[in-house]
Amino acid sequence: MQYPHTPERSTELLRQALPLMSRQSAALHPMSYAVWYAYVADTASPLRLEVDHHLAQRGSLDEATTAQLFHRYLAEHDPQTMQRVSEGLRQLIGGMSAHAALAKDQTSRYGLTLERMAAELAEAGDGGLPPDADADAAGHPPAMLEELMAHTRQMQTDMARLQQRLADSQREIDQLRHEVQRAREESQVDALTGLPNRRAFDRRLGAELSASAGGASGADARRPCLLMMDLDHFKRINDNYGHPFGDQVLRAVAQVLQAVVREPALAARVGGEEFAVLLPAATLDEALALAEKLRATVAGSRVRRKGHEAPIERITLSLGAAVWHAGEAPEALIDRADRALYTAKAAGRDRVAVADH
Ligand code: GH3
Ligand code: MG
Ligand code: MG
Repeated sequence: MQYPHTPERSTELLRQALPLMSRQSAALHPMSYAVWYAYVADTASPLRLEVDHHLAQRGSLDEATTAQLFHRYLAEHDPQTMQRVSEGLRQLIGGMSAHAALAKDQTSRYGLTLERMAAELAEAGDGGLPPDADADAAGHPPAMLEELMAHTRQMQTDMARLQQRLADSQREIDQLRHEVQRAREESQVDALTGLPNRRAFDRRLGAELSASAGGASGADARRPCLLMMDLDHFKRINDNYGHPFGDQVLRAVAQVLQAVVREPALAARVGGEEFAVLLPAATLDEALALAEKLRATVAGSRVRRKGHEAPIERITLSLGAAVWHAGEAPEALIDRADRALYTAKAAGRDRVAVADH
């Protein structure tokens, strides 16, 4: 989901979103803003279908559902959109706030004018103006002016309250922006494939190696093993069929990884067309058997293009396998597996190579 929206368009979408949002039982917080923004922005989005379905059954969105929708469709998958949403909303509220401040100034000036007029009238009353000048004998402002001044004071109070509310909203939006930032920084999921991303992989690798330090030793002990893999001639796939189809191929490869790699092993997308598998405790033979299974499954799969009968050329994968040795840093292990991967490429691709110790 991507919205190349200008600030004007974002503001327009927010204007559409606000009334919808205000009809729900969920409070008007930034998560609601984001959900309803996404709702009006894309009439064919899965989020919209789910919201419509929920509304048809329950009538309105509550806190829990709003939070679920936010996390499922927005926070993790498209932080950029979230950024734009909060930016657009901030601009909208900033604009409203400026209007409110201006209105408050004008009201206040109007109030002062009324007071000055009242005082002048009272003085004029003292000076013996005719009775229809509307100030009474004691010099009090006429009743109509009193009433106007009371209304003016009420308006000033209302304006101040509105300004306060707008300032609160702005604070909430700033908070949302921080949350979006944090979600982006802490994201562990690759948005394209749904696999763990590089950050998640590095974290897990570090943890497994620390846990293995001082553990089993000896020639047949099980140790952490690493497979690094890279799609062969992937640039050609993009060049021949376009980037979106390249993305489809990456998702298909990720599905193979998800189907073949079982816990406690971890498969991740660690680069553009690069994937990795960590086996926390395995022998070299086990790691090689898994590598070969992945290679053969990918090479044996056929990816079709929508609307085209003939399958495209085979997609293949080269892999490098390395067994961790005690004391080795994560980067050094990755480096050895990478070098094995490039040996596999140099030897003709679509194969597995083992790293030197
Ligand atoms: P080799 O067999 O030597 O690995 O050849 P290659 O063409 O796969 O290698 P190269 O590194 O030259 O090209 C990788 C290509 O992967 C280039 C880049 O456009 C593409 N790529 C990287 N990330 C993505 C992505 O997210 N989507 C798509 N469609 N393509 C991507
Ligand atoms: Mg590459
Ligand atoms: Mg490649």
